[in-house]
Amino acid sequence: MSFEQFSLDSRLVRGVEGMGYEDPTPIQEQAIPVVLDDRDVLGIAQTGTGKTAAFVLPILQRLTKGPLHQVRALIVAPTRELAEQTHQAIGKLGKHTRARSVTIYGGVSKNRQIQALRAGVEIIVACPGRLLDLHNEGYIDLTHVEVLVLDEADRMCDMGFLPDIRRILKLVPSQRQTLFFSATMPAAIRRLADGILKNPTTVQIGMIAPAKTVSHALYPVQRHLKKALLLAMLDQMAIGRTLVFTRTKHRAKNLARDLVKRNHRAAALQGNMSQNQRQRALDGFRSGKHDILVATDVAARGIDVNDITHVINFDMPDTVDAYTHRIGRTGRVEKAGEAFTFVERDDEDLVRRVEKLLGHRIERQYLEGFNYNVPAPQRHNNPNQRQRSGRNNSYRGNGNRGGSNWGSASRGGAGRGVPNRNNSNRRSGTR
Ligand code: AMP
Repeated sequence: MSFEQFSLDSRLVRGVEGMGYEDPTPIQEQAIPVVLDDRDVLGIAQTGTGKTAAFVLPILQRLTKGPLHQVRALIVAPTRELAEQTHQAIGKLGKHTRARSVTIYGGVSKNRQIQALRAGVEIIVACPGRLLDLHNEGYIDLTHVEVLVLDEADRMCDMGFLPDIRRILKLVPSQRQTLFFSATMPAAIRRLADGILKNPTTVQIGMIAPAKTVSHALYPVQRHLKKALLLAMLDQMAIGRTLVFTRTKHRAKNLARDLVKRNHRAAALQGNMSQNQRQRALDGFRSGKHDILVATDVAARGIDVNDITHVINFDMPDTVDAYTHRIGRTGRVEKAGEAFTFVERDDEDLVRRVEKLLGHRIERQYLEGFNYNVPAPQRHNNPNQRQRSGRNNSYRGNGNRGGSNWGSASRGGAGRGVPNRNNSNRRSGTR
């Protein structure tokens, strides 16, 4: 199947060619005809499937006719990164058309956004909070919206945007086309979708599981050895463009800093950075200036960088859903990727749930020549001292999942000096 059969405007065909897309992805195959037919869509698809073009192309097709200079499409996204990514896709796919889009999100000055709105746009790509602010201040007229897209709806609800979404729904005409995309479909999201969509066509791509093009491996390791393991891995393996996930912003910042000290071309991407700093980190990663990006889950939403070869979960994510999202960053659209996850003893429960989702056991691996037996540094009894040492060595002190270090004294004294590898094998052997 080729893009030709959608009978898209020739200017859009040129845009698609400019992107280097040869054939539509499965979600594009299914969704584009439905959206072109003006029907509502419930799209269950993770990032990396090509879902952005699946709604952007039909929107651009609609905008080739009818009035300009009024907001006819509103795309609501949970994060600025996703909003920027969508805006860029519109810019590239719609390069030869007259349609213009603007991104609206918080954390940056309003002035540029207001100027762009005043110049006249047909598409707004927005995060909910700033959209409502600028609407309340009278800069945005949503009464001409013909298409409303809610992208990554599950994530918007996770982030507490549901009340804002309900407000936005009151501002757009009830007579409109609605496209609702979500990677997962828990009951609350299903109810939201049911309340918004009119007779929708459901488009579901794959099971809600990590992309099949990704191979997964677990690296059992004690918490205090994670950084050393990562450094050894980066030295030993042919790892290309790599995204490393940590549990907290501080861990992301500190780990990136330590990698740079060890001469790796690394940068952090975390929520405490300004929008400009985040954009610089992302641009650097995209251009190849950095080949390692150390990110938190929230900051990494919407990262659209091609050719990510490895995702390394330095810290296990909190949920299976978060695992899926992280892994969705590699192995995108038919490209192979590898996902390495550092697991501590406490992570085993989640590991089992991820394995259930994948439908197979994930291989446990051990890095050749790596000393898994280095004991954990002495802990202090004084809580203030522990706090301080935690800051100096955030890979150990930042979390408070007590007693989770494999091979530590908490395992009944058998820990130190006993090869951890044997312990790990024994544990995995019982499964
Ligand atoms: P998305 O799921 O929309 O975030 O898209 C993931 C990546 O796939 C982006 O880098 C897109 O540019 C790329 N992509 C989208 N559609 C296609 C296609 N038909 N062929 C090749 N790559 C595509």
